[in-house]
Amino acid sequence: MAKKVILLEGQRAGDVWVFIEQERGEVHPVSWELLGVGRVVADKLQVKLVAVVLGYQIDHIPPEALAYGADQVHVVDDPVLKDYRVYPYRKKISALCKKYNPNIFFVGATTLGRSLAGAVATELETGLTADSTQIDVDVEMRQLLASRPTFAGNLMATIVCPNPKHTPQMATVRPRVFPIPPRRPREITSDNVIHHSLGISEEDVPSRVIDFISSGSENHFDLSYAEIIVSGGRGLGNKAGFQLLQEFAQEIGGVVGASRAVVDAGWISHDHQVGQTGKTVRPKIYFACGISGAIQHLVGMKDSDVVVAINTDPNAPIFQMADYGIVGDLYRVIPALIEEVRRRKNPRTFPPSAP
Ligand code: FAD
Repeated sequence: MAKKVILLEGQRAGDVWVFIEQERGEVHPVSWELLGVGRVVADKLQVKLVAVVLGYQIDHIPPEALAYGADQVHVVDDPVLKDYRVYPYRKKISALCKKYNPNIFFVGATTLGRSLAGAVATELETGLTADSTQIDVDVEMRQLLASRPTFAGNLMATIVCPNPKHTPQMATVRPRVFPIPPRRPREITSDNVIHHSLGISEEDVPSRVIDFISSGSENHFDLSYAEIIVSGGRGLGNKAGFQLLQEFAQEIGGVVGASRAVVDAGWISHDHQVGQTGKTVRPKIYFACGISGAIQHLVGMKDSDVVVAINTDPNAPIFQMADYGIVGDLYRVIPALIEEVRRRKNPRTFPPSAP
């Protein structure tokens, strides 16, 4: 719990806030990740960790925010907030910030979060670091240190908002960079969940949601949260090689990732790229097929539970961090893996191979 902190003149007071992103009642997991890193920052500054959630019919969310570490939750539940629209979200969050004056405010670097954070920062005339991949805090200055790759990933920049007149210090944080903290359910009291009215009517909002068209689960591709990833690199030799990886991924319920080399070569789109200038992933199992293991690739997948590397070069750096290494041609190894998976799924169709 927060203790009383003595501040010097001009130093920033205020709590650490986390925006809980939800759509149609479903919380984006980056929100829980942010409560994890928010807890660390709040404890260093000895202030409260506060969650803020807006939406409609969202009673189930505040208890979850408390369970993932928030000391307090601000809730705005109103039909106008059913679908995300920047106007009411920006207005209400800015008003709450003006009222409670948080020192630091984290938002997920999702499509929604990027839209919202930019709008709120503009309204509050404060600093925002977009797409951060490292978070720290200067305790003495009570200053957020948000770092992110810059100049196409060639440099890491630590960005600060030094003038204490401009608060909160805001950052959007890339999904999957921080782990989800343990869930510890807690009791709800009138102190730890605070309800606010929106004070904005439908007529005040300049945009209307006419229809909601889901992208459909069959087309849904979310590399960051995939549990099984089969990634391919330049060792595939050509674009067609991804068909083999797709076949393997499909067989084991995974999705296809890639190194930057093959994205740059135009073999696969950028939303498959893993690494410093791609996505950060934390799957249960990561297959690196024909990927050498450059540091810029490793930073995006180093937190995978199990890494299996397939590479013809026994000295490829990827083997130094792989849990299982297979030295061999991926065009021989992967078909053998596919066959073995099929055999185990359906032993009648596939009799045991000869010893
Ligand atoms: P290579 O390094 O060429 O490796 C190919 C591997 O395939 C080799 O190890 C080879 O032995 C093996 N191989 C060849 N044939 C076969 C076969 N038949 N079977 C099995 N193995 C085989 N990279 C990223 O991935 N993600 C990033 O986000 C990223 N960001 C970057 C940002 C900056 C600023 C810079 C400078 C670079 C970045 N890179 C990134 C690029 C990175 O440095 C590497 O160049 C890239 O990861 C190499 O891709 P690769 O492993 O596919 O290719």
